[in-house]
Amino acid sequence: MIIRHGIVFTSHGFEPNYSTRIDGERIAEIGPDSAVTAANGEQSLDAQGGFVVPGFVDVHVHGAAGYDTMDASAEALAGMAAFFARHGVTSFLATTITAPRAATLAAIRAVASYRESPHSGARLIGLHLEGPYLNRAAKGAQPEQFCRAPDVAELDEFAAAGPVRLISLAPELPGAEACVRAAVSRGIHVAVGHTQATYEQVEEAAAWGVDHAAHTFNAMTGLHHRQPGAVGAILTDDRLVAEIIADGIHLHPAVIALAVRAKTPTRMALITDAIRATGLPEGIYDLGGQDVIVRNGSCWLIDASGGASRTLAGSTLTLEAGLRNAMLATGLSLAEALPMATTTPAASIGMAGQIGTLAPGYLADIALLDQAGRVQLTVVGGRVVYDSLAH
Ligand SMILES: [Zn+2]
Repeated sequence: MIIRHGIVFTSHGFEPNYSTRIDGERIAEIGPDSAVTAANGEQSLDAQGGFVVPGFVDVHVHGAAGYDTMDASAEALAGMAAFFARHGVTSFLATTITAPRAATLAAIRAVASYRESPHSGARLIGLHLEGPYLNRAAKGAQPEQFCRAPDVAELDEFAAAGPVRLISLAPELPGAEACVRAAVSRGIHVAVGHTQATYEQVEEAAAWGVDHAAHTFNAMTGLHHRQPGAVGAILTDDRLVAEIIADGIHLHPAVIALAVRAKTPTRMALITDAIRATGLPEGIYDLGGQDVIVRNGSCWLIDASGGASRTLAGSTLTLEAGLRNAMLATGLSLAEALPMATTTPAASIGMAGQIGTLAPGYLADIALLDQAGRVQLTVVGGRVVYDSLAH
């Protein structure tokens, strides 16, 4: 297949009047329209001057379209994969919420078996375990009763059950160092998250091998000029890739701009933290056994009185909207902002050589955007999985 007449995001930036030739599941060739020739009978697709960019990579997303990772079913994962593809996401980590061991194991096994059967939509590249080793004092919407101390034997059981690529934990908890070192030795990346760690504790954790931060600013110790906290460590330590939720609710736009200036797009990953309500009408939805009310675009835990609490419970953000929001907040161009949704999250989970970049040899995971940055078409592994224009 060839995608013609695009403004293609190459390693040199955007190139107009470019073509991308795909062979099987990989990119074979990128070059000027005149230089890339089709084989006999090869399918040709007209990008009509739209932006041809790497598909987005969401490393922190719980659910969408009525489905959640914790449903632990192929139907849920397929529903999520289809929804994400409509928003330009070509790879995602199904993200768990803190739960009893059996529920987490079921979610991991569901991802493992889903990946072995034929599927469509966005590529499910593995799991992000959000918890269970989180600090109750920074629980956010994580169910407090299941938060517990890091446990290497349990982590081993999780890792053996399926493709765990990232785990978020609170490094100040007892046993955290052994757990971080065990995870890293198994190729699992570790994020600091839901934490009351001090600046010094995060720095120590980075020395153990922590290289990621879950939804920076949210559910962690903030930045104070004499006590820089977890946020101070994350913003200044190049060893850590910082996730942010650019929905305009979790972070003020000025804070997004500050964080991006501190980290630069090469160390900043846009995530959605989306929950099952995403893409559905506002109302009341489940998150990890808790009721969440979605109102005016925000998700709040419901408190004992039955009303919205002050605790945010994920988002209904899509990554295509998050990218646009981040551009508005920072003033960055599409070319400058794109790494935050593509190469940086891919690299943060050790997949820099396979996804997140348009170049020969990479998986043909591609999004076509119109001039307003809206997703028109999504290709995963060389197959069109979403086409708003029915090319
Ligand atoms: Zn969280």
